[in-house]
Amino acid sequence: MQRRQAFQYELMPTGDQQRLMRRFAGSCRFVFNKALALQKERYARGEQKLGYAGLCQRLTAWRNGPDTPWLAEAPTHPLQQTLKDLERAYANFFAKRAAFPRFKKKGQSASFRYPDPKQIKLDQRNRRLFLPKLGWLRYRHSRDVLGEVKQVTVSANGGKWFVSIQTEREVEQPVPNGGAVGIDLGIARFATLSDGTFYAPLNSFKRYESALRKAQQAMSRKTKFSRNWQKAKARVQRLHARIGNARHDYLHKATTTISQNHALVCIEDLPVRNMSKSAAGTTEQPGKHVRAKSGLNKAILDQGGFEFRRQLDYQLAWHGGHLIAVPAQNTSQTCPCCGHVSADNRRTQARFVCVQCGVEDNADRVGALNVLRAGHARLACEVNGAVMPTAAGTHRNAPIRLDAGLSAVGPPPDFRRGRMSKRICAPLGAARVREDERRTRSINPSRHGARMRCIS
Ligand SMILES: [Zn+2]
Repeated sequence: MQRRQAFQYELMPTGDQQRLMRRFAGSCRFVFNKALALQKERYARGEQKLGYAGLCQRLTAWRNGPDTPWLAEAPTHPLQQTLKDLERAYANFFAKRAAFPRFKKKGQSASFRYPDPKQIKLDQRNRRLFLPKLGWLRYRHSRDVLGEVKQVTVSANGGKWFVSIQTEREVEQPVPNGGAVGIDLGIARFATLSDGTFYAPLNSFKRYESALRKAQQAMSRKTKFSRNWQKAKARVQRLHARIGNARHDYLHKATTTISQNHALVCIEDLPVRNMSKSAAGTTEQPGKHVRAKSGLNKAILDQGGFEFRRQLDYQLAWHGGHLIAVPAQNTSQTCPCCGHVSADNRRTQARFVCVQCGVEDNADRVGALNVLRAGHARLACEVNGAVMPTAAGTHRNAPIRLDAGLSAVGPPPDFRRGRMSKRICAPLGAARVREDERRTRSINPSRHGARMRCIS
């Protein structure tokens, strides 16, 4: 299996190198903006959009022309890569994946990319890296770079410079460890696993919120673009970087642990983007519960649910596992024991009490159990080639195998007494369980909950 991996290090540039890097990043931004302006002009005149090759020709003209001779001082390849980025921005726009490309502003994501491995030299023993027109750069060698170097990206964040080295290497086909698990993402608990473990929220933003507010207020009192304003701005950016670093670290640790210990992970397909849309609404249609919603949005964005999913996806692929996203309907309101769906099941945020059969558990874990069951159902359907189930709990209408220990009306007598037959209690192995057992096992509460209580 081929694995692509990026290794990021902090650079330790000299003053000259820092100035050069700032200049190169600025040149890239200039080229991007000029090309975008050109495309917009051509569109207004009714001409065809220039392709990558056409833009590269223009770039050569700009580099050799009298207006912007300083462009020739920047390395060619990074400038061309900027044009590639613009092409991709347009492609994403036409495919309705993104908004129309916008002009880049100074001070936002300064970066440039060297795509040619032949021009890059990596000297790991001496902790240095050679890049065209920058020379040998020292970097903080925190771990070894594995594999063949494909390209290198230099970027600035919070006043520091970083290098990301993208590599490719052949690895053995990984064998996944452990069984299946469902994950419920929430606010009170960042992530709850169906086996009962949970990750407390980090809330790195909350921790630094007041410091950040103070720094921002101090910045607003300075004369814009003055020396003191620049210093205040640097302070704000440092705080943002620190918040991001803490979150990054936490998410990486959580996703690594989960993906190392599970072969199949089911997760809710939460529309994070919708949830974090402005709660205020528009002037014509003002939003409801603006304050409460914006608080919730802040919390969701702070914890990085989207990034969590992205990391789980690639980490599981590295470890040979699979990620299954299931639609997030009724996962918090369905009883894992009898399948009763009702909003009354969840009177409080933390507790889940089924109004029909009386099962009690932590609400987040019930959500995780339902996600796991929906994931199993989805997997079974994919194997069968049947239609996708619409939501968690809805396939309850389908006949359930009574001999597996669950009836449509309630839990079996064994379960009421707190004992289950050995056959059903068999631990959930890898993803390769027998297909007809999948459904029944995943809704089997005995394995997942010692704390569950049924009183019907
Ligand atoms: Zn119930």
